[in-house]
Amino acid sequence: ALRFKSPYKIAVIPGDGIGKEVVPVGVRILQACAKKYGFEVQLEHFDFASCDYYERHAKMLPDDWVEVLSRFDALFFGAVGDPKRVPDHISLWGSLLLFRRQFDQYVNLRPARSVAGVPGPLRNPGKIDFWIVRENTEGEYTELGGKIFHGTQREMVVQETVMTRVGIDRILEYAFDLAQSRPAKQLTSATKSNGISITMPYWDQRVAEMSKRYPDVKVESYHIDILCAHFVQKPSSFDVVVGSNLFGDILSDLGPAVTGSLGLAASGNINPTGKWPSLFEPVHGSAPDIMGQNIANPIGQLEAGSMMLRHLGQPQAADDIILAVNAVLGRGKPDELTRDLGGQASTTQLGDAIEREILAPA
Ligand code: ATP
Ligand code: MG
Repeated sequence: ALRFKSPYKIAVIPGDGIGKEVVPVGVRILQACAKKYGFEVQLEHFDFASCDYYERHAKMLPDDWVEVLSRFDALFFGAVGDPKRVPDHISLWGSLLLFRRQFDQYVNLRPARSVAGVPGPLRNPGKIDFWIVRENTEGEYTELGGKIFHGTQREMVVQETVMTRVGIDRILEYAFDLAQSRPAKQLTSATKSNGISITMPYWDQRVAEMSKRYPDVKVESYHIDILCAHFVQKPSSFDVVVGSNLFGDILSDLGPAVTGSLGLAASGNINPTGKWPSLFEPVHGSAPDIMGQNIANPIGQLEAGSMMLRHLGQPQAADDIILAVNAVLGRGKPDELTRDLGGQASTTQLGDAIEREILAPA
């Protein structure tokens, strides 16, 4: 994988709604980390990929967006969409999903991590800290197929799954590399080879093949149904979990949900080669119902910043953000917590508390 060098070139794209409120907090924290660890971030702000831009230009992006964004190491994204003004199929397909395709962001990465002070749905979950790696470009999500015998008793629909050797191997390589970089060095693969009899056995075969290159990584395979059960019954036993587009999609909501922190989670759409920029964003949406009030919770955006710094090669700074979030949420002072967390703090005040924590002398 390509090595990024400071100054890191980052395109800041706040998008819509609370994106415009949480992204500035994220930017401030990136700058605090840069100051503390002695690297530089070169930030450029863009107003496209938003419904405001769409209303002015009748399109979500400028014509030269590929050229403009290709110059960056990473895209720091807020949220897009405001269905009362612009239908989601226009705002989403005209921005995020185009980025994903054009920039070949074939990895979707999401953490499942317990956050101090944030209760989850489980009684004794133990310490949850794992990553979900989802294949992001092929698999079950194709537009290949069709319908025949329209409107008759014999009506029939078919939708194909596409799995390529290159496509499977590149997602597995990312997942194995990630597992190898972690202390537990454990990789769990989601399969369903007992029911899906052609593509899933092929997936399993590629896992077995790839594992030969990583003798120090412990590999286990579970059928998706029992794996979902294990996510609930023993979430603390996972380290890195890899799945196809569909299985990864399911697991990447279930994982954060069992920690209780789905609303605080972030997501990376990653091109690991570094040839194209990767995008980091909070999992939550633009939340038009609370925009403009400075009450949105910025933690998801900060998690996105942490993931981005890890991707760029600043793991210490990335860990620092997580530690600061845990410290502030863990002590649970109402004047440092936003309303959704039971406090009275504004977006900015929670951001201030995290920044102080990061810059505090050790
Ligand atoms: P998406 O746009 O991802 O499809 P959505 O539009 O269904 O999702 P969100 O925009 O995430 O949902 O909002 C869902 C609910 O959660 C809203 O009531 C919103 O106010 C709340 N919410 C979302 N993000 C935050 C946040 N960062 N802080 C506080 N509340 C939030
Ligand atoms: Mg939304």
